[in-house]
Amino acid sequence: MGVNEDTLQLQDEFLSLAAVDNFEECYSRDIKDGLYFGLPLQPIIEAEKRLRMPVASAKSIAYFSMEYGLASSFYNCLVSSRTANADNKIQEHEVFSNYRLADYFFTLKSNKIMDLPIYSGGLGVLAGDTIKTMADYRLPAAAIGILWNTGYFRQRFWFKYGQVPEEMHWDPATYPGLIPLKNKIKISLKFEDIYLRLWKYYVYSYDRSSVVPLILLDSNVEENNEKVRHLTDQLYRSDNSWIKLMQRIILGMGGIVALKELKYNIDIFHLNEGHAIFAFVESVKGLDKNQIEEMRKHFVYTCHTPVEAGHDRFFSEDLNKIIKKEDYEVVDHFGREKSWIINLTMLSMKAASKINAVSHSHQKVMHLQFPKYEDRIKYVTNGVHSHTWISDRFMSLFKQYPGVFKDIQANPMILSRAGELKKDLKFRESLWQAHQANKEDICGFLSKWGLSKDVLTICWARRVAAYKRPSMIMQDVDRLIEIAKEYGPIQIIFAGKAHPKDNLGFTFINEMLERVDKLNGVYNLLKIIMLENYDISLAKMLTSGVDIWLNNPLPPFEASGTSGMKAILNGVIQVSTLDGWVAEAADKNIGKIFGYRSEEGKLSSEEDLHMPDDSKALYAALEEMAGLYYQTNNKGTVDLPSRWIDIMIDCLAAGADFNTYRMLDDYKRIVWNIP
Ligand SMILES: *Cc1c(COP(=O)(O)O)cnc(C)c1O
Repeated sequence: MGVNEDTLQLQDEFLSLAAVDNFEECYSRDIKDGLYFGLPLQPIIEAEKRLRMPVASAKSIAYFSMEYGLASSFYNCLVSSRTANADNKIQEHEVFSNYRLADYFFTLKSNKIMDLPIYSGGLGVLAGDTIKTMADYRLPAAAIGILWNTGYFRQRFWFKYGQVPEEMHWDPATYPGLIPLKNKIKISLKFEDIYLRLWKYYVYSYDRSSVVPLILLDSNVEENNEKVRHLTDQLYRSDNSWIKLMQRIILGMGGIVALKELKYNIDIFHLNEGHAIFAFVESVKGLDKNQIEEMRKHFVYTCHTPVEAGHDRFFSEDLNKIIKKEDYEVVDHFGREKSWIINLTMLSMKAASKINAVSHSHQKVMHLQFPKYEDRIKYVTNGVHSHTWISDRFMSLFKQYPGVFKDIQANPMILSRAGELKKDLKFRESLWQAHQANKEDICGFLSKWGLSKDVLTICWARRVAAYKRPSMIMQDVDRLIEIAKEYGPIQIIFAGKAHPKDNLGFTFINEMLERVDKLNGVYNLLKIIMLENYDISLAKMLTSGVDIWLNNPLPPFEASGTSGMKAILNGVIQVSTLDGWVAEAADKNIGKIFGYRSEEGKLSSEEDLHMPDDSKALYAALEEMAGLYYQTNNKGTVDLPSRWIDIMIDCLAAGADFNTYRMLDDYKRIVWNIP
């Protein structure tokens, strides 16, 4: 057979496994010649076949999550031959700063393909990193999510007004790698049937030899009434309990029906947060008590937050109006908190056979919050996907030391040996240069603002939520200016979206914009840059190139946190409170730990942010770090033996523990029970 026939056969085989809607008109040019939007088609065929095999040797996993953070702008980029829809690109980022030469605002032009707009923050990025790692590990796995037709939201800063959320629009039909299937599924509810279209997006391993299919559910089909069609519009944007419940029902029940429709045989149903718990309700339809017990063994549940708003509660009567009697009885049995309240966290804990927190400190908090389940609540500390988050320059640096970082591609845990290079001046110099080059990328990106690679640069970037205390570093700007006068100038970069319904988060952004606005005539000492629309590609640039990654959540409310993990993989030093993953790295010399510590064995309040004391402690920490930084980087001349570079190396070594490979090894052992 000739090459053409071979690849034609691949295309046919693919189409027999994935019934692509509109194939001829829209996708036939991107799925041909053995390629799928530029990447190999063969691994897709293998994954599709493997998931359809009867459950046998290798246990298969279905991972359910409300959100997935996947950026095709810089990792395993899928490309389409169709002209990119302008809506699927990031056109610009607005910037707000204390730079006064022209205007407060400048716009950064950008032309990159936007992240798949189906996530809001860390939870989604973790889900994305998890399925990428499942592909790297060649696990038989599928992921289930929702196709959010209008994404999360687009953030605008308005002067004197703060963050203004704008609806975003994108075009799923032309997003590279995303394909609609002909398959439609039906969920039967009490008073109506609703229909969902299935989409697929294939997530490749780093070496592109295996994939995990991500199935996205979409209620925007003509069979549904207008209200139902809009259910999969916006992620986390509604307060309306009918909408919230229906979205959870779509993810859970819809997910199970979708897996059946695709003939995937699944062993383990992994619920990333309680949002997906209706998957259990769907799975036990028509089963007797013993069979339900048996089914529980197949369900595992990961809890991601100690914050009250993260636990879903609904009026039982609202749910009773939506789902059928037999389904309601299951929810009632497992998830009734009070006679009139259904609690999805409780439902998840009672239904799942395994429960885990996402860090050791989060496990302790969960034990206090849910003492009845203490024995069953384990922990698996989160991680980040090293292939996504280690910058190219650092990866090449590691590859220059194959004796130490042997096989780092497949095994980032080898980073634990970084300390062996501490005395190697050549390594220290290359490390510093790689860091400076990454930092120059940021300075180049923000060139209008005149940033310098030889100025201490601090970044705070993540979701803006009260417990993360975004404005802490701005509590006393005069103090920052004093530190800058004493040791050297400071550059601060800030980015993050506040949930539009989170009034407190919103207030933080206003407060910061106002403080930046009041800064006058100090631009040579203190530059503060606020970037709109934080996303994964900004995260990649910032976590790999600033000097200090600032993380100041109120302990013990950060279940894990992951952005600092991205930073340490690039030798970026931490200034952090003792919370989440940092508590497990505090003795690893990753930077400076400061501030309030929650009392062991006691649940403290989310209300008291400890802002005055902790901001003072932060300034003291920054003073020390600024001193050390300017001893290390003296106007561009680096002091290679400096303790700063020791800390950078210790950060790299700590990265061995905080990646998704270690995390999946733990899930296999502790939660999934697979070899
Ligand atoms: C990593 C990441 C987060 C999570 O940051 P935390 O500090 O863990 O809260 C949020 N948003 C984006 C875009 C990220 O890449």
